Amino acid sequence: MWGVNTVSGGATEPGQLKRGTSMSLEETRSVDTEKIKAMLDQKKARMKLCLAACASCTLCAESCFLFMSNDKDPHYMPSYKVTNSLGKLYKKRGRVSRAILEEMKELIWKNCVLCGRCYCPFGIDIPDMLSFARSILRSQGITGVYPHSLGAPENDYLHSQNQTDVSGKEEGNPGG
Ligand code: SF4
Ligand code: SF4
Repeated sequence: MWGVNTVSGGATEPGQLKRGTSMSLEETRSVDTEKIKAMLDQKKARMKLCLAACASCTLCAESCFLFMSNDKDPHYMPSYKVTNSLGKLYKKRGRVSRAILEEMKELIWKNCVLCGRCYCPFGIDIPDMLSFARSILRSQGITGVYPHSLGAPENDYLHSQNQTDVSGKEEGNPGG
């Protein structure tokens, strides 16, 4: 069973389990790790190829306006965001605690607006990968909230299925 298997990995990061420790049932209680693994497997070949192809050259960083407007904080670097979300999910084969998913939420919603401007000379599609990571988190009932207005349309859509958060009736739809 995924939730009680021993997890091994590399260096310990915030929210990451130490090598040789086990996730308790309590930690994985509300995480459907089988579902996460199934989603990861659906795009495994392409996503793992992209993750492996990243040369950590950081060339994508300067094309990300959030990285540039946050004093080049590495937490906003496109490759960092992918490695510490989707990359971590693949590395752990979906065996993650809710606390780890919550950390990813901050990274892939707060630190990225999926504007699609990041450029990778190797053709790695960072927004596509971060979008996939969001889908996985949504499958666990986790939805990020942007701290800035650029995210309003997505938050509105999730709230009311309308990107302007205007009800159907107000938009002239009698059935709304
Ligand atoms: S995503 Fe591309 S540009 Fe960014 S660090 Fe990886 S290889 Fe370099
Ligand atoms: S898609 Fe995300 S990582 Fe890429 S440039 Fe836009 S905000 Fe930055």
